[in-house]
Amino acid sequence: MTDLTSMTIAEAKAGLANKSFTSLELTDAHLAAIEAARSLNAFILETPDQARAMARAIDARIARGEGGPLAGIPLGIKDLFATKDVRTTACSKILGNFVPPYESTVTSQLWRDGAVMLGKLNNDEFAMGSSNETSCFGPVVNPWRREGSNTSLVPGGSSGGSASAVAALLCMGATATDTGGSIRQPAAFTATVGVKPTYGRCSRWGIVAFASSLDQAGPIARTVRDSAILMRSMAGHDPKDTTSVDIGVPDYEAAIGKSVKGMKIGIPKEYRLDGMPAEIEKLWTEGAAWLKAAGAELVEVSLPHTKYALPAYYIVAPAEASSNLARYDGVRYGLRVPGRSIGELYENTRAEGFGDEVRRRVMIGTYVLSAGYYDAYYLRAQKVRTLIKKDFEDCFAKGVNAILTPATPSAAFGVGEKGGADPVEMYLNDIFTVTVNMAGLPGIAVPAGKDAQGLPLGLQLIGRPFDEQTLFSLGEVVEQAAGRFTPPRWW
Ligand code: GLN
Repeated sequence: MTDLTSMTIAEAKAGLANKSFTSLELTDAHLAAIEAARSLNAFILETPDQARAMARAIDARIARGEGGPLAGIPLGIKDLFATKDVRTTACSKILGNFVPPYESTVTSQLWRDGAVMLGKLNNDEFAMGSSNETSCFGPVVNPWRREGSNTSLVPGGSSGGSASAVAALLCMGATATDTGGSIRQPAAFTATVGVKPTYGRCSRWGIVAFASSLDQAGPIARTVRDSAILMRSMAGHDPKDTTSVDIGVPDYEAAIGKSVKGMKIGIPKEYRLDGMPAEIEKLWTEGAAWLKAAGAELVEVSLPHTKYALPAYYIVAPAEASSNLARYDGVRYGLRVPGRSIGELYENTRAEGFGDEVRRRVMIGTYVLSAGYYDAYYLRAQKVRTLIKKDFEDCFAKGVNAILTPATPSAAFGVGEKGGADPVEMYLNDIFTVTVNMAGLPGIAVPAGKDAQGLPLGLQLIGRPFDEQTLFSLGEVVEQAAGRFTPPRWW
């Protein structure tokens, strides 16, 4: 029998359909892989009993000819998604052992379509971070290492567990969320494919909120096709999320292999940063050449407000976070640290329950929303956001179908290497990704090459609103040209 963990979702679907193996066998193979990879710290909760029960049930469904589009496929779930009767913590001490009595819409759609849950995946606390180092469960280790080195590298964040688990063949795909880059940056750091859909494409219901006007769920998978397969199940209108948009979900997989001939691809000149590593520059040029060879037309475009995106994001996101996180008061759920008065109980609980980065965001957010500073910071950042969105609109109005940029300004870095003294050093990771969230657009990160140390690098494609299909078509061109990358197994 073929190795059950190294297949793509598309291959596994075919194998399940022609009865080469059962979902239970596929699930068991992944549970064993997870057990053998505990040193990566990607899974913070393994749910083997539930996984086997789901797999048996789906095997019966398949036998009756009733399997759905994800029938029997084992997945990992970021711990930001509420899973009914399964502990959900957002990797924060403040949620303690919270067990939701409900299921998030996105995960419920995955189970509806026959997927199997292997367990919950590590992430930065409340998804705040770019390295998975802010998790109360400790950092996740990237399965990739620099050539000839044993240094532990971060998998990126905040969906570090998702990216690491998919890259290390612990699950066939994973859910993730992206507020400023948390799907695309970890995908780029681990040679996986990450899709941040258009704002409103996937329901946010049942996902722990970070910054509600920016948060979007999406998949991390090993191929562009697999990410398209997962997207179809994750997307869709949900009346329980008022920002979810009522547009039919297309067959994203049908976009794979579609010709990109004649498409106009924008290369934004403002993304060519001073001091950008030559390797990133080279990768970008190479990516453009691949798209050109496939028949696309490349045009230089200008997104003049790009340089304000990061500072504006670090006002809008903390502002919304400070408001969203007000609910963690020690009364409603999770951790409770008593005090002599109710005020003291709130203070003690929040001081004990939130980690440093979350506290920093709450303080920044409260400050920029305070009466004296609201206009100067929050309102101003919202105006900047409108201008950033307009930059993209102008560009698309000129007939540009998608925009090509690097996904990250560097490859994966070492655990503990960045952001210790200066948090801005960590925030700079998001330089190419936050604009997309600020404008509500879809973006995909696709593995495109390696740096001199043998670490994966990714390219990003940014699309028109609700045109994820074009990103899948273009992403597959990049994937075909670049090839696929798998880390050598050492764990
Ligand atoms: N790294 C960014 C932040 O820390 C983005 C995180 C995310 O997308 N959830 O805010």
